[in-house]
Amino acid sequence: MTTKPMFDLAYDGGFAIGAFNVNNMELCQGIIEACAAEKSPLILQISKGARKYAKMIYLKAIIDAAVAEYPWLPIAIHLDHGDTVELVDQCCKDGFTSVMIDGSHHPYEENIKVTAAATKVAHAVGVTVEGELGMLGGIEEDVVGVNPEEYQKNLHKFVTDPKQAADFWEKTRVDSLAVAIGTSHGAFKFKHEAKLAFDTVEEIMKTCPGLPLVMHGSSSVPQEFIDLVNKYGGKMPNAKGVPEDQIHMAVTKYGVCKVNIDTDLRLALTAKIREVFATKPAEFDPRNYLGPGREAIVSMVRRKVGAGVLNSAGKADAVIKQWEKLGKPMPAFYGKK
Ligand SMILES: [Zn+2]
Repeated sequence: MTTKPMFDLAYDGGFAIGAFNVNNMELCQGIIEACAAEKSPLILQISKGARKYAKMIYLKAIIDAAVAEYPWLPIAIHLDHGDTVELVDQCCKDGFTSVMIDGSHHPYEENIKVTAAATKVAHAVGVTVEGELGMLGGIEEDVVGVNPEEYQKNLHKFVTDPKQAADFWEKTRVDSLAVAIGTSHGAFKFKHEAKLAFDTVEEIMKTCPGLPLVMHGSSSVPQEFIDLVNKYGGKMPNAKGVPEDQIHMAVTKYGVCKVNIDTDLRLALTAKIREVFATKPAEFDPRNYLGPGREAIVSMVRRKVGAGVLNSAGKADAVIKQWEKLGKPMPAFYGKK
């Protein structure tokens, strides 16, 4: 399904949909298994880097298998950080139900231009669109943001301008908007505890009533996983993320409908694989370290969709009902070769 039935309920329903990045089979299985166990709607997102790493033909087969295994689970397939109209068009043809066009690194007028063009292409085939306005800190694949320390110190310079957001929404007609409110990509987000700009979120909700908001760079980088990585031979000093209680506040009290979580999954997988390598040095069967790694993904995603963070557990049936109420819309390219 597209993200619409999900966001319809999430906007003022006190929860948000987790958007988890897929790069291979174990990640996809871990995410799906967790969401099925928690009856949580979810977004599987694929970046340009993932398309290059795994090849779309493999990712598509893996995701089709997941959909076939849990036909009752609400799943949207989303392009993460699309950078061109051509890529958006290709993803629509590949069966994505939702896309992001990220023109936030361009000057404002150029961002409007590329986002409006991508939205036109996607909407023509029933695919929902996420735009981005404002600047995030940190680095993610080829998305380079502001230096995290500079970002936190001068947050007011980088956050999304609420008035500009209204203008952007009107001119592009995006279905959701990724906003800059103090989150940061990657594992080394902050030196000190992060504080999100909730006053900005409130302002955007006033200037853009009903527009679903998206938070990128929202991993929490739990200290116990950093400790595990470092204990078993890793080197990740001073890694810090967005505290889970801040995420919980954003999704339960404000119109944040989608929260992107990638770093925490990478961290869980890496910590577990490191542990196996360090404690069983003779092990060389990939199933015996990727398997426990997959289990670590399951636990991490269950924690994220639970009541303490995204609060989307148990919402699968309601989302399916909303989708049926809308007439079960699917993108026009879906299922076509
Ligand atoms: Zn992002």
